[in-house]
Amino acid sequence: MDYYSSQISKLIEELSSLPGIGSKSAQRLAFHILNMPVEHVEQLSAAILEARKNVRYCKTCYTLTDDEICPICKNEARDHKTIMVVEDTRDLAAYEKTKKYEGVYHVLHGAISPMLGIGPGDIKLKELMQRLQGDITEVIIATNSSLEGETTAMYISKLIKPAGIKVSRIASGVPVGGDLECIDEMTLLRALEGRTEL
Ligand code: ZN
Repeated sequence: MDYYSSQISKLIEELSSLPGIGSKSAQRLAFHILNMPVEHVEQLSAAILEARKNVRYCKTCYTLTDDEICPICKNEARDHKTIMVVEDTRDLAAYEKTKKYEGVYHVLHGAISPMLGIGPGDIKLKELMQRLQGDITEVIIATNSSLEGETTAMYISKLIKPAGIKVSRIASGVPVGGDLECIDEMTLLRALEGRTEL
């Protein structure tokens, strides 16, 4: 990209390292940023930096939050005996959008994938098992319906069942290989309501 000055090229290069941003989009964003008022650019970069520095895992459910305990875990009106296990914080947000789920969550931050070398120790599974020492009546496994998601669901159900806790899996209204966050709220709700005990 010799035809741009080095600072413009650097900006384009940084932007294009983000997921879903190809070189054309990166150029478009870069020139948009260069035309923005300086104060606006300062707000944008401060928001990125603050979020990156302050966002951490909730000590209970491991979702990303800016407090020690996330608002969902803090909410006493929710059913803390029902835990929905999801792969990441975006999946949690997708279920929250339905406004119909009243339990709490556990965020694994990934799924078991022998092909990618991701084992049970690489996701927040040990932390889930620790939570189950408490008073829990149901664990709803809402990992994606990809091979990795299914493998993880089977693994978790085998781990939990001996403890005598009810384990269920969301219905497969969710398309195979589907990313939970891309699926509309009605489909998610149907998947949740049609869950089957494992
Ligand atoms: Zn939490």
